[in-house]
Amino acid sequence: MNANLSLQTRRERAVPAGLSTNLPIYAARAQNAEIWDADGKRYIDFASGIAAVATGHRHPKVVAAVREQLDHFAHVCIQVTPYEPYVALAEKLNGLMPGPGEKRTLFVTTGAEAVENAVKIARIATGRPGVVAFTGAFHGRTLLTVALTGKVAPYKLGVAPLPGEIYHVPFPDAYHGVSVEQSLQALDTLFRADIDPARVAAIIIEPVQGEGGFNPAPADFMQALRKVCDRHGILLIVDEIQTGFGRTGKLFAVEHSGVAPDLMTVAKSLGGGFPISGVIGRAEVMDKPKVGAIGGTYGGNPMSCAAGLAVLDVIAEEKLVERAGTLGGIIGGRLRAMAQRNEFSCIGDVRGLGAMLAMELVKDRVTREPAPELTKKLVARAAEKGLLILSCGVWGNAIRFLPPLTIPEAQLIEGLDILEASLAEL
Ligand code: PLP
Repeated sequence: MNANLSLQTRRERAVPAGLSTNLPIYAARAQNAEIWDADGKRYIDFASGIAAVATGHRHPKVVAAVREQLDHFAHVCIQVTPYEPYVALAEKLNGLMPGPGEKRTLFVTTGAEAVENAVKIARIATGRPGVVAFTGAFHGRTLLTVALTGKVAPYKLGVAPLPGEIYHVPFPDAYHGVSVEQSLQALDTLFRADIDPARVAAIIIEPVQGEGGFNPAPADFMQALRKVCDRHGILLIVDEIQTGFGRTGKLFAVEHSGVAPDLMTVAKSLGGGFPISGVIGRAEVMDKPKVGAIGGTYGGNPMSCAAGLAVLDVIAEEKLVERAGTLGGIIGGRLRAMAQRNEFSCIGDVRGLGAMLAMELVKDRVTREPAPELTKKLVARAAEKGLLILSCGVWGNAIRFLPPLTIPEAQLIEGLDILEASLAEL
């Protein structure tokens, strides 16, 4: 413990306070769905490095692919000499993106960078400035993506001036009383009052809001947005950074609605722990930026592309898309059973899609007043008992469950047992 404390003190002195977590855990080793800290204490990982390791920590095939690539070269840059893993991964993703027609993929490194590029490409392709995003949305922490993000604190505090021509419309949220009709009405009002739709380049949406609280966008809402975009020549950008690669029980969450986006952003699980993100889109849109207008030194790093190719193989071989449905059934069943019990009346809502599930903690089920303090306590209590969980939500009062899709069933149940024991002690 003393070693842990001194590591924590070192961390506090070495990195900005804004990177703080309340958990005194220093990761030393991880394998699949388990993490061991510097003291050898074991944790079951329901966080997956914020949804980044759907194939588990250090999947042997991912590790082998990266090692093999390292034997060839670590870096050359696609804009200097194209290389096989970049092109092969782009070909695969082009074939996987929902919707007809030819596709292209641009690789960058972080989720925020992918969103930045999607918006840039949409503005260049349409020649229009406006972008519509949603309340509760999270698209990253760079200046443009923070402007697209719905929540003000802490993301936007003190960062103004932010890029302009960004508009927010309420995201449908049945639990908090926002219907699909109200959201569509708000979009219509925006187009009448604030911006002519002929000046809008793109609508950007997470098919399941991640940081915003694991709210799925209803299928009819996604379909209505597609129609609005078609009517006004607006591009639909679907941000699959947290939802992509099987997490929701489909390869991409947008498939639940049958909607074909124009552009799609991906990251996190694609790299199996290695940093890579991408914009996949219709060729005629993606080809619009001039040479040099997009790209970057490390975009589509060879090791990350090799990891991405291995991740796609693992998802197919281990049937992880189907497995997300099975795991989601176990997690959802257990959470809903807990929510029925009187002693767990703090559970206000259980929601999500596939293995992307969350529960919202409230002070009172009738008023639905958020209980973020309880959420913090639960995260800390669960960590003491050996389970890593993350909070999310507009009020910080949701707990999200994102175990690797490769987690053994016994470990999933062990983690849910810890959750229940931790909740009982609140
Ligand atoms: N978009 C979504 C939907 C996300 O969930 C995230 C990160 O959580 C991002 C964008 C930003 O990704 P990154 O943190 O890699 O910049």
